[in-house]
Amino acid sequence: MAIVPEPVLVVGSVAVDSIITPRATRDESVGGSAVFFAMAASYFAPVRLVGVVGDDFPQGALDDLARHQVDLVGLQTVPGGKTFRWKGRYHENMNHRDTLETHLNVFESFEPKLPAAYRDTPFLFLANIQPTLQLDVLEQAKGPRLVGLDTMNLWIEIAREDLARVLARVDVLTLNDEEALQLSGEHNLVRAARAIQALGPKNVVIKRGEYGAVLFHGDDVFVTPALPLDEVTDPTGAGDSFAGGFMGYLARIGDLSGEHLRRAMIYGTVLASYCVEGFSYEGMDRLTLDAIQQRFDRFASLTDFSRASLV
Ligand code: AMP
Repeated sequence: MAIVPEPVLVVGSVAVDSIITPRATRDESVGGSAVFFAMAASYFAPVRLVGVVGDDFPQGALDDLARHQVDLVGLQTVPGGKTFRWKGRYHENMNHRDTLETHLNVFESFEPKLPAAYRDTPFLFLANIQPTLQLDVLEQAKGPRLVGLDTMNLWIEIAREDLARVLARVDVLTLNDEEALQLSGEHNLVRAARAIQALGPKNVVIKRGEYGAVLFHGDDVFVTPALPLDEVTDPTGAGDSFAGGFMGYLARIGDLSGEHLRRAMIYGTVLASYCVEGFSYEGMDRLTLDAIQQRFDRFASLTDFSRASLV
């Protein structure tokens, strides 16, 4: 049977980052949650992107997205405006980072508008932006099959009520372990996930950086390690790339059963592993489905073991 991938719409930040890792720095590194998501998902399904940039945003990155067939009709350009900028520094343990600067710039007055042709997109990912903007997008969407959402500590701190209103309408929430504890007020990830499920999302994916990710799907729990890599260049965007691989795979397959959610966890992990191998989206820019599949298969053997019995 021929595979007919369904389109995926992502709304999120499109950014110019400044990155400091223990071994290298990179200024003017193209990033943003929507960019990483779109690059990762583009291998699986057609992607539509809604976001905003200033006219300082590098044309080369727009060309790269277009080469990945990412539909940019929904990307607004503000003449004379400056693109969202973020600066972060990673610790020796690259699971930890500090935000040094955030400049909202054109995001400050951004009103996401879904072009008419985007409104009935079946797979919708609300990447990390202000929860009010995420809500705005949900209002414009017509009956999506699956709504995914990502958030961060900043919004849990300063916009908890808005976030709760969005969460009530979301099917899959991705967030990292510290954020899960912060959002739920719990001290244990399992309890945190259960508390978050009670807020709305039936599926909660807790990302644990180099330790992998955990999916809570109804009562089911699925755990995946991260791919052991001998060199991590830049972890920025790993979470968004994970979400891109995860949602992209589901849009490609069109089946939202537990079995496919588990596979989606692995495709997400595979795309995140490519992401962290380079700065910006460079590690994900020139992949093939064959290469992705090979890494998926490596993963299967990495976690495969035969059942044994001691009695
Ligand atoms: P991740 O490493 O997956 O958390 O994503 C990193 C990306 O998130 C960077 O490229 C940043 O530009 C973007 N980012 C950082 N802070 C924010 C924010 N407050 N709102 C939206 N995007 C952000």
